Amino acid sequence: MTIDGRDGEHSESALRRSVLDAALAMSRRGLSPGRSGNISSRFADGMLITPSGMAYEGLEPSDIVFVGRDGGLRPGERKPSSEWRFHLDVYGARANIGGIVHTHSMHATVLACAHITIPAFHYMVAAAGGKEIPVVPYATFGTAELSRHVVKGLTKTNACLMANHGQIAVAATCEQALELAADVEVLAEQYWKLLAVAEPKLLPDDEMKRVLAHFKGYGQNAQASRDATTPPIDRQRLPPAKRIST
Ligand code: 13P
Ligand code: ZN
Repeated sequence: MTIDGRDGEHSESALRRSVLDAALAMSRRGLSPGRSGNISSRFADGMLITPSGMAYEGLEPSDIVFVGRDGGLRPGERKPSSEWRFHLDVYGARANIGGIVHTHSMHATVLACAHITIPAFHYMVAAAGGKEIPVVPYATFGTAELSRHVVKGLTKTNACLMANHGQIAVAATCEQALELAADVEVLAEQYWKLLAVAEPKLLPDDEMKRVLAHFKGYGQNAQASRDATTPPIDRQRLPPAKRIST
């Protein structure tokens, strides 16, 4: 494996495969119903992202779409996810992020539709990188306005709920972003159940600070590997791109 080589884990073909595998895993694990949700991986000056409105079963790595830094597309590729804009903008705003997962997972979406932030009811909330998992305001899917809300919501945390829509998780790779999205879904279900039986007893800020610091060295340095590094950029020459007109 070489950083710039085409055969390594960061080559275009390997990243296409990993985006598709993560999308299949998202569907099979029931983390996003129907054709909802989308996944991307940073690549070259842009990203590789799932195609819009397609079931993932039966797709090939060649169905994953390259979108350049300015929204440029390669001729002949499929139409990218309608949410390409916020994926691209988050990569622009967070240099250490290499993968993004957006899902309509059940419990995260229920809380998002009620505009309920997930507070520090459990120490695992810190797995998302902050003291709480915020809700960003609603805007129509696929719009620049939604992208602005998402970018702002993800400045201090690696996951957020999207009002009346779903959730987003970001990490160093799309596989790790999918794991975080699954963690957020579990936290959302726990919090939803907790709200039904009792008034939540929240952890104080100073304890969450300690937990956040603890997470940096937890396990095999899980948090650090989740968000500290960006996969090296493949320097191969890219075919000409054109701007998306929508
Ligand atoms: P795409 O199929 O275009 O990615 O849309 C799914 C979605 O969840 C939009 O928010
Ligand atoms: Zn969506």
